[in-house]
Amino acid sequence: MTTNHTSLNAGFVSLVGAGPGDPDLLTVKGYRVIQSADVVVFDRLVSRDILSLAKPDAEMIYVGKKLDYHCVPQDQINQILVEKAKEGHKVVRLKGGDSFIFGRGGEELETLAENGISFEVVPGITAAAGATAYAGIPLTHRDHAQSVQFITGHVQKDGREIEWSSLAQSNNTLVFYMGLKQSGRITDKLITHGLDENTPCAVIENGTRKEQRVFQGALNTLPQMASEAESPALIVVGSVTQLHDKLNWFS
Ligand code: SAH
Repeated sequence: MTTNHTSLNAGFVSLVGAGPGDPDLLTVKGYRVIQSADVVVFDRLVSRDILSLAKPDAEMIYVGKKLDYHCVPQDQINQILVEKAKEGHKVVRLKGGDSFIFGRGGEELETLAENGISFEVVPGITAAAGATAYAGIPLTHRDHAQSVQFITGHVQKDGREIEWSSLAQSNNTLVFYMGLKQSGRITDKLITHGLDENTPCAVIENGTRKEQRVFQGALNTLPQMASEAESPALIVVGSVTQLHDKLNWFS
């Protein structure tokens, strides 16, 4: 294995995706960079087992976010990364899932680039891949879905609307992140734009963790399923979700 780290005194940031929950889903590269970090800046969804890989004297900085509530504002997180790197440290910025999928990884790297700080990106298994794998729901399948889309359930910050008509296709799998609170709206929009109200759906709560729960139903029962589920959870819409009955291996 190779490493492209740092000359002496030059700080460096590794943006690492920790995967969706099961600590064994961390990549080998992620494992290695966490072990050598001086500073670990981490989010709420990163498991303790992964944090415990850091050196005993590594500085651990929690900047966890909850839905609609930022423990530390994004600007300040960016600033911490810049400062720690400028002090010459090897910094790991550790996020749940993959940093480039609804993880603001791009925004943080833009700040580093603007400040002349070197960085690398270590991808992680995003929740859509991990949770569906552990639920026995293939995202594509020749008999069910030829495409898959990952969508944020959050309303866009500038009020822009999602292109619902392009999502409401029967041979398409939809995965909504951060969608629990918006499930009523998601259901209405998809049905209004032509998706059958009987389209199979699933909600996967705590995907890949031992507490994982999978709720199954149809689009018209999605708000009910979502009201029973707890965060973190994904909403999966499409006929692939029926395969859970046959392919469920993790319970
Ligand atoms: N960057 C992350 C996503 C961050 S957004 C990734 O690539 O996975 C946070 C949302 O991800 C949660 O609201 C939830 O919808 C989803 N999520 C994260 N971990 C999850 C898990 N273990 N099971 C189900 N959904 C999860």
